[in-house]
Amino acid sequence: MSTIADNIGQVSQRIRAAADAVQRDPSSIHLLAVSKTKPAEAVREAYAAGVRDFGENYLQEALSKQAQLSDLPLSWHFIGPIQSNKTRAIAENFAWVHSVDRLKIAQRLSEQRPADLPPLNICIQVNVSGEASKSGCTPADLPALANAISALPHLKLRGLMAIPEPTEDRAAQDAAFASVRELQASLNLALDTLSMGMSHDLASAIAQGATWVRVGTALFGARDYSQPSHG
Ligand SMILES: *Cc1c(COP(=O)(O)O)cnc(C)c1O
Repeated sequence: MSTIADNIGQVSQRIRAAADAVQRDPSSIHLLAVSKTKPAEAVREAYAAGVRDFGENYLQEALSKQAQLSDLPLSWHFIGPIQSNKTRAIAENFAWVHSVDRLKIAQRLSEQRPADLPPLNICIQVNVSGEASKSGCTPADLPALANAISALPHLKLRGLMAIPEPTEDRAAQDAAFASVRELQASLNLALDTLSMGMSHDLASAIAQGATWVRVGTALFGARDYSQPSHG
């Protein structure tokens, strides 16, 4: 069985190869290790192998892991669907939120961001696969949402996030990620982040401009949802 450190080495190689293939500087692509459903010990192993940024989808699970890992200087990213009654804890305990898709949530995050912390980094999740996915704002709603969020005082709008419909077809992957890049470019805002690409499609996402790839399975192995604790 490969260790988490081995897997990190392999994913880093894939990121470098994908960057080289399109003459991008590999250091412009950041690895977000998606640790949902995985124990704190797995995060500790990834930290020991050099990873600093971790993505979580389930608030209670994330808070419990953060408590167990408070001795480490980690940067936590919230990447799951957000209910309004969870915004305060998210505003208080994360550095980034990749999954904002409506203004009400952004307003609450801004109001609830503690004054002694830097602005919360935000990506707007955009739905580029139409009916296939329920999360994310529509491309039509994106410009107004982006303008409104960029005016909120305790948030820093960094860019867009997308989870296209899964496919192994490289041309379809490229088309979906290119549409995210083009939507970002069409906004007249200074944005520096494209959060796109997961274990199976990170090469395509990097070819289309990803600056964060969010990788779970390829680092930590398959997830077992029969375990409790991710409500
Ligand atoms: C689970 C998850 C990932 C990681 O997916 P893998 O296919 O395991 O790499 C990335 N982004 C989001 C938003 C996720 O929920």
